[in-house]
Amino acid sequence: MSNSHLDKSFVEIFGETPDVIAGAPGRVNLIGEHIDYSDGFVLPFAIADRTYAAVRKRSDRILRIASMQRHNNVVTVNLNDVSPNLKGQWERYVLGVIWGMQIPHGIDVLIDGHVPLGAGLSSSAALECSVATALNDLFSYGFNLEQLARLTQKAENEYVGVPCGIMDQSVSLMAQRGSALLLDCRDLTTKNVEFDVASSGLELLIIDTQAHHSLTDGGYAERRASCDSVVKKLGIRSMRELTIAQLETSKELITVTEYFRAKHAVTEIARVLKAVEVIERKDFAELGQLLNASHASLRDDYDVSCPELNVAVDASISAGALGARMVGGGFGGSAIALIKASHSHETIKKIETSFTQNSFKAPRFFTSLPSQGAEIIQRGL
Ligand code: ADP
Ligand code: MG
Repeated sequence: MSNSHLDKSFVEIFGETPDVIAGAPGRVNLIGEHIDYSDGFVLPFAIADRTYAAVRKRSDRILRIASMQRHNNVVTVNLNDVSPNLKGQWERYVLGVIWGMQIPHGIDVLIDGHVPLGAGLSSSAALECSVATALNDLFSYGFNLEQLARLTQKAENEYVGVPCGIMDQSVSLMAQRGSALLLDCRDLTTKNVEFDVASSGLELLIIDTQAHHSLTDGGYAERRASCDSVVKKLGIRSMRELTIAQLETSKELITVTEYFRAKHAVTEIARVLKAVEVIERKDFAELGQLLNASHASLRDDYDVSCPELNVAVDASISAGALGARMVGGGFGGSAIALIKASHSHETIKKIETSFTQNSFKAPRFFTSLPSQGAEIIQRGL
């Protein structure tokens, strides 16, 4: 693999060839939503689209950072000034990784991202993980994938200021081609689950609703706070320790809202484990049912869906999908539908028609097979 396009642009912008180029993919989460911060399980896979970071060492303490998705404009920062208080734009994702790794001297960085931005496919993790993978190689740090996942998550949490869980970075780093990654968010242990939809004539359609409701930030924090409150009131460490039977008998200790939030967390954790079981025996009809149940739980109990997501899911089902659900934080973003590959065109048409009828903005569609996690794709001589 090589990225000659990126190589060439790097020379045009920085005057020399890069020392290393790394690529890291975006992801889609099959099932396990809003439970990464509840010590739950998630089952994402890496998509084929990836973000590339080309990096060259400098002999001084200057950082020069550019992105082909940001008109190649070069942002220049002194390494001594890198701190979460430093104002900035998109380059903060790169600076967060540099900050976390405490690199010893300056670098030139050029980014080329092929993961659609803000579509719920985690272009942010792809960006962080491509940079972290390149720097790990360039400075021979020898961080393992789990350490890189924690480091890039910390960059996004503490430097960029986005309270994301550990899933996106873990899968972008650890995924293997042809498999989904079962990730235990409590201890970061993983298991590859072969997810061969193609040989069963199926495909995972990703529907970016292009809706972004303003609830997003406050809504996410509010859901986390509800879960924290339940954990405190019930004297447990996380939702992971809670069973549905315990939740039912503890009803009077928590508020009605907290009960429904906890119900989602507990049932969703169970659905992920069930999904692994049914994928392993290639029972994709049953997987579809689990996706539907996940959506209903996110819509009704966790209350994080929105009209666009519900229409995308309902239209997919009525077009014959085996199952569909919203993915990501909610209040907009993307949905996925498990469909017969031969029905792709029809399903897309049906969703588009439903969106037009509801006067929604036109959705975007993507599809991908499970791909490889972050890799070094080129080293200089
Ligand atoms: P998502 O991760 O779902 O795509 P986020 O809002 O978390 O959405 O991350 C998107 C942000 O990440 C962009 O607004 C931009 O700041 C940054 N980003 C991601 N990829 C690139 C890129 N190739 N070039 C510049 N910035 C990028
Ligand atoms: Mg993101």
